[in-house]
Amino acid sequence: MKALICKIFGHNFTKINKSDIFVSNYKCKTCSQKFTTDGYGSITKLTPFWEENNLLFKKYYKENGLQKS
Ligand SMILES: [Zn+2]
Repeated sequence: MKALICKIFGHNFTKINKSDIFVSNYKCKTCSQKFTTDGYGSITKLTPFWEENNLLFKKYYKENGLQKS
């Protein structure tokens, strides 16, 4: 039912990470699914693929001293 609401009205995103660079994670308040932004800036479902990808981003930024404090 909740997923149906999301299908009709769209997900109700709320940002769930605070300290991050340009990778943003979102959670839908209605269906509790997690999402992230892909390389093109659009919101996509947070799959293990993207979780790993985001970790690599983080690592890269840390190593290069680019991470915001
Ligand atoms: Zn949803």
